[in-house]
Amino acid sequence: MENLTNIMIENYENYLSFLNGKLSNFFERQREYIKCKKGCALCCKNAEFPYSLLEFKYLLTGFMNLDKEKQDIIERQLERVAEAKKNFKGQKFLYDCPFLIDDVCSLYEYRGIVCRTFGLLSQKKGEYDTAKVPFCVHKGLNYSMVLDEKTNKLSPEKYKALGFREEPLGFNIHYEFLTDEAFEKKFNFKFGEKRPLIDWFL
Ligand code: SF4
Ligand code: SF4
Repeated sequence: MENLTNIMIENYENYLSFLNGKLSNFFERQREYIKCKKGCALCCKNAEFPYSLLEFKYLLTGFMNLDKEKQDIIERQLERVAEAKKNFKGQKFLYDCPFLIDDVCSLYEYRGIVCRTFGLLSQKKGEYDTAKVPFCVHKGLNYSMVLDEKTNKLSPEKYKALGFREEPLGFNIHYEFLTDEAFEKKFNFKFGEKRPLIDWFL
């Protein structure tokens, strides 16, 4: 497989800096609702993890910098997941990310775009009915304090009662939007084909 050129890496990293700036701002604005912390890794489990070719190659550049012990752990985990996928007969194969070691991402700086959005609320401002909450809301984590258990939707009354400084706000953080060709043109790189992360190893 062709390696990433330095210029491609530089351009993609410029995009990541831009994206990280935006996402940090969103997380900061919503910090009263966010319970993410090191060692909480439910969002790295039981999912598909869409990755473009570029994100996959970038992840591999990080892998090459890991020590041998971590590489071996990841390789064993990758083999297990790939084998399970090959034997899977259903519609949608869900798995724990093979790059997770002791509930910590081993390639945090190199993680994909979808990984960077875990935990945020995705919605149009004020449209509580259409809010897409992170799944961990149901585990007592992000946004759970403003979830109306009866309707299973976020409650504006609850956030007001809590005296939080800002309402639960969603942002356009859909994977398809964040990997749109408008960003490719602006930062001069190509995402390439997109697949579930594990499929790049099959
Ligand atoms: S790459 Fe890292 S952040 Fe992304 S799913 Fe895997 S372990 Fe989690
Ligand atoms: S998004 Fe949810 S599951 Fe993931 S680290 Fe944050 S609180 Fe934990």
